[in-house]
Amino acid sequence: MDNGFELRRTHEKGEGVFATRPFRIGETVMVGAIDRELDRNHSHASQVSAERFVLHGGLVPKVNHSCEPKCGIRLNSNGAHDYVARAPIAAGEEITFDYAMRNYSVDYFAARCRCGSRHCRGRITGWRDLPAGRKADYDGFVAPYLIEIDDQAHTALAARRDHRR
Ligand SMILES: [Zn+2]
Repeated sequence: MDNGFELRRTHEKGEGVFATRPFRIGETVMVGAIDRELDRNHSHASQVSAERFVLHGGLVPKVNHSCEPKCGIRLNSNGAHDYVARAPIAAGEEITFDYAMRNYSVDYFAARCRCGSRHCRGRITGWRDLPAGRKADYDGFVAPYLIEIDDQAHTALAARRDHRR
């Protein structure tokens, strides 16, 4: 069965997931399903709410990070992450997303990012560390609780400011 993607070995990154057919912008590329709950954040953990981390099943955890990703994230009705094309994807192109689209903080990649994109920010970071402009670029393609965490942080900051006055 052709799902539209497959795992391939690559020289640079060991392995990655590649499209076997073209995808249009907005098209769902991979449907996520939660495999199991995790008790903490780690390199393959997907954050699915402010406090909850899971491991996705299938090839979803094999999708590599890019600082200029082909896909974004949409929370599906099962609470898992689907990958949705935010740029046209040709058959044979690697399917990528930005780890910052799914995790508020990313603390476990000490090495330099090797995504090779023009917009590479040098290190794989979480949503917390993205510049505002990049967050705006990803509008509509990130896990919704990341926006909620930001809103809560702003509200808390404003409350502290008001308190000091
Ligand atoms: Zn990069």
